[in-house]
Amino acid sequence: MISQDTINAILDRADIVSLVREYVPELTKRGANWTCCCPFHKEKTPSFHVSPARQTWHCFGACAEGGNAISFVMKAEGMTFPQAARHLAQRYGIDCYEAEEPDGEREERLHREALWGVNERAAKFYAEQLHDPANASALAYAQERFGSEYVAEAGLGFAPASGRALCDHAMARGENIDLLLELNLVARNEQRGTYYDFYRNRLVFPIRDRYRRVLGFTARDLSGSNECKYLNSKESAAYHKKESIYGIDEAWREAARQELFFLVEGAPDAAKMHAAGIYNAVAPLGGAWTAEQMQMLKKGADCVCFINDADPPKEGEAYGAGIAYVMKNGRLALEHGFTVSVRELPLAEGNRKQDPGSFFTSKAQLGLLKEEEFVAWCARTWWNEEDNLNLKAEHITRIADLSSLIKDETRLEMLIDELVKLKKRKDIWRSAINRAKWARIDAKKAERKEINLRTYGFIEDR
Ligand code: ZN
Repeated sequence: MISQDTINAILDRADIVSLVREYVPELTKRGANWTCCCPFHKEKTPSFHVSPARQTWHCFGACAEGGNAISFVMKAEGMTFPQAARHLAQRYGIDCYEAEEPDGEREERLHREALWGVNERAAKFYAEQLHDPANASALAYAQERFGSEYVAEAGLGFAPASGRALCDHAMARGENIDLLLELNLVARNEQRGTYYDFYRNRLVFPIRDRYRRVLGFTARDLSGSNECKYLNSKESAAYHKKESIYGIDEAWREAARQELFFLVEGAPDAAKMHAAGIYNAVAPLGGAWTAEQMQMLKKGADCVCFINDADPPKEGEAYGAGIAYVMKNGRLALEHGFTVSVRELPLAEGNRKQDPGSFFTSKAQLGLLKEEEFVAWCARTWWNEEDNLNLKAEHITRIADLSSLIKDETRLEMLIDELVKLKKRKDIWRSAINRAKWARIDAKKAERKEINLRTYGFIEDR
């Protein structure tokens, strides 16, 4: 068994464009992607696409399939997965570790891989359904919203409304029903002893990890009558919400190249940005960003730029929920050592709500949103010249607290240059930031001390 680290190293190192070119020298650049006639079936007009951003290939013609560098070599050379992986490892000078793992871990891994396999096949089934003429309206919706290229390459799918489609298909193929139940792709009607599909009448988006393994799904209701617009996979050994990031498979290379991820609130926003050619956009799967997700992003790039949802503020509030979301999550990104910026999306005409998914139709639109340093942006949003002295002092404390999380001195100096536009005196900002720094250090010390005292039994919890 080839270790996961080896496979990850191969996929990190492989360059899909030069790899495919060795087999098909005619591969030519067209826009962001490369195209040629498919090497796996006969054709006269090129329908074989290679995406350097995603590091994937896809045949839009008769094959209607795609994959990564390893699966390309499997198909081109007629190799098995381990053969293709070894072949590439040797070529890129990567030591091919055969994994030795304790029995318990091995079982867990095999179980996880089995679940990913079931997900992969379910994703393929959903994708076939989306392209079935019977479901033309679902395809039309998906293509209108995301474009046909994104729909095919991201592997979007459709879960039919019947409620039995996946069950029947999986059972006919002899899938292990227990794994499907564990993934919550199907559920059991205890009274009747029958099974039914979890996703019904939904547009299905596979959630992948950065190596394109299908961890789970998020699915949009197409009936228009369901209260739950987006339904995500439930927690399982294959999918952990707090560790999963929508779009990371597509965003990884581009983020490493630009040293930057765009962070948006919803998976469909990230999908729409990818479709518009902004490949380094990612989103959490409902709710706030987590420490686990931040740590993963940090391996890919040092900078993050938030793009908010723009919604009208509630009565008596200065800004909308999307702005508050960015303030909270921007702080978490600072705590993880990112250089953080914001491109503030304004309300749509007539003070109507909009989000990155409705805003972006092309990459050029990024230029319409001015990039601002995160703390300077918070400061500008909080600060109101009309506020009384008390309020202003509060703002300064809050801004200084955020500023004190910036470790890089040059950046901090640049920020202070921005802050003096609000409150003129640099010394006021400097001393407030220093106070915030010391307060944090003291709080940490106190916490450690308390932990120590607790550990040794000097503090008793009531
Ligand atoms: Zn083909």
